[in-house]
Amino acid sequence: MSPSPAGGPAAPAIRTVLGDISPADLGICDAHDHLFLRSPQLPGQELDDAGAAAAELSAFRAAGGAAVIQWTPYGMGRGAAELPRLARESGVRIVAATGLHQAAHYTPEVLERVRADLAGLFVSELTEGIGGTGIRAGMIKVAGGFHGLDRHARHTMAAAAEAQRATGAVIGVHLELGTGAPDVLDLLCGEWGVPPDRVILGHLNRSPDLVVHRKAAEAGAYLAFDGPSRAHHATDWRLPDALAALADAGHGERILLGGDTTTAGARSVNGGPGMPHLLGRHRERLELALGAGLVTRFLTANPARAFGADWPRAPYTDRGPGRAPTA
Ligand SMILES: [Zn+2]
Repeated sequence: MSPSPAGGPAAPAIRTVLGDISPADLGICDAHDHLFLRSPQLPGQELDDAGAAAAELSAFRAAGGAAVIQWTPYGMGRGAAELPRLARESGVRIVAATGLHQAAHYTPEVLERVRADLAGLFVSELTEGIGGTGIRAGMIKVAGGFHGLDRHARHTMAAAAEAQRATGAVIGVHLELGTGAPDVLDLLCGEWGVPPDRVILGHLNRSPDLVVHRKAAEAGAYLAFDGPSRAHHATDWRLPDALAALADAGHGERILLGGDTTTAGARSVNGGPGMPHLLGRHRERLELALGAGLVTRFLTANPARAFGADWPRAPYTDRGPGRAPTA
């Protein structure tokens, strides 16, 4: 994007691994997925094969996909150095994440090392690059717990709020089994003053509580319905009604859709649904219930708005009073 005139407001941009783009250029977007992911919670199912990631992207592209937002945060094998080449070769736009997942995904040593200045870590990954690669993250990923927020989650979210204020980046929240949305919004928006439209609540499909969905949409947050076809989350059949209820209440512009491939076995190239499923049977089913126009908005205009940010043009140096405490 060309820089805005001096003194004028910056136009929002989406920060991809190949640089900032206009939100209008995003295209059909999988708003929550993973090309690389490693966790002690998923032994033997690491997404760490660049060739398989390339094949998955090419299948996604063939299904009509144009952009993938990778929600893999710090310390979970994001493959940052691989992402630009994968984006170039596939023609699919890729956004990387900074942030931190639940404590269970890390060794105590890693947490010890990063906890002291998490906000500084997030800001530098968003504005300078991830681990010396120069590849900048375009969103902040954090995680809540089951119907609540532990000390680690509160610490991480305080840092995310500070990094959000410094950069404009959107915060994507893993809700454990889709729960805890009210707690997350109270903390991020109520306590730390994050604008609600800078928060994406993830995994809401896993907890089909339509009242919670509506309240979160009324608050102004984005709602991500990501990860269809999980054998252990038997909620796919409720999704069309949940989305219709939101759309009927006037909240269609808050809905995002994603695939959330977290294991090698779930990849389409390994016989699973993978990224293309989102644009295949899943989209087809939603279109039957909601109409093609609305579903296309969920996949294009909504993520374009959600991930577009007014990025700072100068390096972040404000570490003075007013920052959210990170303890
Ligand atoms: Zn995910």
